[in-house]
Amino acid sequence: MRPLNTGLQRSGTTIFTVMSALAARHGAINLGQGFPDTEGPADIVQAAAAALLDGRNQYAPLTGLEELREAVAAANARDYGLAVDPEREVVVTSGATEAITACLAALLDPGDEVVLIEPLFDTYLPVVRMLGAVPRLVRLEPPGWALPRAELAAAFGPRTKAVLLNSPMNPTGKVFTPDELGFLAGLLAEHDAYAVCDEVYEHLVFEGRHVPLMSLPGMRERCLRVGSAGKTFSLTGWKIGYVTASPPLAEVVARAHQNLTFASAPNLQRGVAHGLRKERGYFAALAAGMAERRDQLSTGLAALGFDVLPTAGSYFVVADVAGLSDEDDVGFCRWMVERAGVAAIPLSAFYDRAPPRSLVRFAFCKRETVLDAALARLRSALPERDRGWG
Ligand code: PMP
Repeated sequence: MRPLNTGLQRSGTTIFTVMSALAARHGAINLGQGFPDTEGPADIVQAAAAALLDGRNQYAPLTGLEELREAVAAANARDYGLAVDPEREVVVTSGATEAITACLAALLDPGDEVVLIEPLFDTYLPVVRMLGAVPRLVRLEPPGWALPRAELAAAFGPRTKAVLLNSPMNPTGKVFTPDELGFLAGLLAEHDAYAVCDEVYEHLVFEGRHVPLMSLPGMRERCLRVGSAGKTFSLTGWKIGYVTASPPLAEVVARAHQNLTFASAPNLQRGVAHGLRKERGYFAALAAGMAERRDQLSTGLAALGFDVLPTAGSYFVVADVAGLSDEDDVGFCRWMVERAGVAAIPLSAFYDRAPPRSLVRFAFCKRETVLDAALARLRSALPERDRGWG
C-alpha cells in the first residue's frame, strides 16, 4: 500500500493521550493532562442543558451564535478595553485547537515562515508543517524562561509571515512581560507580520494581570487572539473556542473554519455566552483558587527534593528532577507512573529536537485532596527509588 501523509504518520499519538492511558493502566493519579477534576460552574452547565431542550439544535451560524459573539466582544471590552465588533470580528470554533489551526491556515501559504517559541504546545508544529509553512524556533531557557531578544530578532526575516505566541504559556507557566510584548510588537511592525495569540489561560494569571499583545499600540490589526471556554470555565470537554481579529483577518479565519468544522454545538455556545457574562468576581476567584493549588503542589514537590521553577500562570508547574535521578525526563516519568502512581509529562515532549533532559511538567488544576494524595505517593516511593528500585 502507498504511504500516507508523512508528517502525520511521523507525529505519533500526543504525549497527553499516551500518559493518560498509562495513568489509567497503573491506577496513577493523573497530573499529566491539563484538565480540572471538578465540574465547571453549575449555572453554565444548566444554561447549556436548558439550551438543549428548548430547540435550536440545528447548525449554528458559521461564525457562531450571535449571543456568544456578543458575549466575546463584551468580554474583550470589559477585560482589556478592546472595542470589538461582534458581527465582523469574532469567530467561534470547536476549541482553541481548531481556532489555532484556522488562524494559521488563514495566514500561511506554503513556504511562509512562522516564528515559534519553544517549549511549545504540541499541536503547533504539526499544523505549521501540514500547511507547508516553515517553522523558525526560538528557545526559552529555564529557570527564568526570559525572551532571548537577539535570537528572536534573528528569527525574523523577509519570509516571516507570523509568530505564534502563547501567554500565559504551556508548559512553562511563563507570563510574557509588557516589555517583552513591546519588543515583539516592534518586530511585527518592522517585518509586517501577524501574531496568532494563544491566550487560553488568560484568566489564569496569578500575579499582575494578563495583557493581550493585541492591546499594544499598532497591534490591533496584526493579532488574532484565541480564547477557550475549556480553560476559562473549567469545562475542557466542551471544546468551544473563539477568535477575535480585525474584519479582514476574521473573514479568512471564518473561511478556514468553514472547511474544518463549519459550526460548533449551539447549546454549548449558549452556555459559554452565559459564562462570559459572569461578574468579575468569578474570574478573580478562578485565578485565586488555582494559585492556591499551584502553591500547594510547588511547596510539596520542593519539600520532596524537586527543584521547582516559578510559575506565574496556566495549569502547570515545571520541576527539575536532576537532583533526584540520573535518568532523563522520560525515564523519570515512566518510573513515577509505574512505581509511584503519579503521572506527569516529560518536558522533552514540548521540543522539536535536542530538548533539556531533566524537566517534568505537573498539572495542578486538581482538587486539594488529589494533590495531597499525589505528594504522599511520591513521598513514600522516592526513598525506594534511592534503594535501587528505579
Ligand atoms: N493551547 C494551549 C496552550 C493549551 O494548553 C490548550 C489545551 N491544553 C489548547 C490550546 C487547546 O484548547 P482547547 O481545549 O480549547 O482546544
